[in-house]
Amino acid sequence: THQVHIIGGGLAGSEAAWQLARRGIRVRLSEMRGSGQGETAAHHTDGLAELVCSNSFRSDDDEKNAVGLLHHEMRRLDSLVMRAGEAARVPAGSAMAVDRDHFSAEVQRALEEHPNVEIVRELVEVLPAEGMTIVATGPLTAAALADSIIEATGEDRLAFFDAIAPIVHRDSIDMDKAWFQSRWNKGDGKDYINCPMTREQYAAFHQGLLDAEKGEFREWEANTPYFEGCMPIEVMAERGFDTLRFGPMKPVGLDNPRDTTPEFPQGRWPHAVVQLRQDNKLGTLWNMVGFQTKMKWGAQVELFRTIPGLENAEFARLGGMHRNTFINSPILLDRQLRLKSAPHIRFAGQVTGCEGYVESSAVGLLAGMMAAAELAGDAWTPPPATSAMGALLSHITGDAEASDYQPMNVNFGLFPPLHDVKKKARKEAYTERAKADFGDWLGAARIAVPA
Ligand code: FAD
Repeated sequence: THQVHIIGGGLAGSEAAWQLARRGIRVRLSEMRGSGQGETAAHHTDGLAELVCSNSFRSDDDEKNAVGLLHHEMRRLDSLVMRAGEAARVPAGSAMAVDRDHFSAEVQRALEEHPNVEIVRELVEVLPAEGMTIVATGPLTAAALADSIIEATGEDRLAFFDAIAPIVHRDSIDMDKAWFQSRWNKGDGKDYINCPMTREQYAAFHQGLLDAEKGEFREWEANTPYFEGCMPIEVMAERGFDTLRFGPMKPVGLDNPRDTTPEFPQGRWPHAVVQLRQDNKLGTLWNMVGFQTKMKWGAQVELFRTIPGLENAEFARLGGMHRNTFINSPILLDRQLRLKSAPHIRFAGQVTGCEGYVESSAVGLLAGMMAAAELAGDAWTPPPATSAMGALLSHITGDAEASDYQPMNVNFGLFPPLHDVKKKARKEAYTERAKADFGDWLGAARIAVPA
């Protein structure tokens, strides 16, 4: 019999199974594909760890790039995804790309050959009432299990769509044009960054939204019911010239301190405003409020850089809208990825609200290590917040704003900031600090992988 039940044989579930099995723990890995009872709209095979879209693990540069740093840390923890990725690698410059069939076959072979892993092709419809469990069912979690998760967590804690507004690095916003203020000075009065627009600028921006190149909704995305409250800005723009000015770009109650008159000494209201709200506890990332969009990424960068104050904006992520099942992790999970209300259940992978193949695998890796430590009775020390794994974990389990939790790729904005380092040298400084701290953690914690 097994000691840990993993639901979902995707990237996170496969990685978690490997980490547990390598530590001598018996695992049951349930995957619905291949059972005849379950499939998703994106997967095409029955293989474990199928890559549903691109074949890239993105940058492999561990000196200047956050995802490259994550590769580095995962390799140091004997990640199966990294191992299989290496075996299936195809040329891609400084990126890491793989032959997807070869990759999936390598992952599956390693797990099939491992005596501690039992792979069962079955659809799991309810969260197990007992027994250590890892839920790694991904962005396309089967409907029955999603219902069971809602029952355990509450109706409004499971999202079926990510309606992502662009997120901007705080230090790339021009505060000579933008200013801090909350509407009508509510709250502590300074919760938002405001970018003002004149009528001419608004008209040009509105036209830009109408003209921009958009991505299409696939049928299975368009048919997802939970789409109402999060209309893309370009759709709002199509509804009328002023729709946005009565929606997310509403200027009332916002006094532009650089546009004062004797009548309005504190500043006049602009014609329209783009507001940004703090997105992480560190204050390094700010999201553009209400700016979820299906515009192509290139078009977003071009148009959003016409907004006064965002001319040099660096985007931690661009807007998007996809079918994506994920829970409100910062509220629901403890620091060890366990459901607070049912701690025998851990979540891992994209269903926790990380985003991407590598990030999902990394969170699966962590969940496997945590479960192994728990079974062994060892205290768990998380990787340092200055490492890529630690930063990602901190974001998921508490540092993100829970009221507006949206999926996120790993990026340096999630790391404790290094203000003292010149901007040019900052990326190297982040990775150097990360590697040193991560190395210390590996050396000190009882997390060794058996040879
Ligand atoms: P998955 O890899 O999806 O694994 C979840 C597994 O659980 C699946 O095998 C599924 O069949 C199984 N499952 C679900 N419910 C049940 C159940 N009830 N019982 C048993 N098994 C179940 N990321 C990128 O980095 N690059 C991309 O180009 C990219 N493109 C994407 C395109 C689409 C259309 C989607 C939906 C996602 C894309 N992603 C991309 C994100 C990517 O899917 C995830 O990052 C990654 O696959 C998530 O890993 P995971 O292990 O969490 O989920």
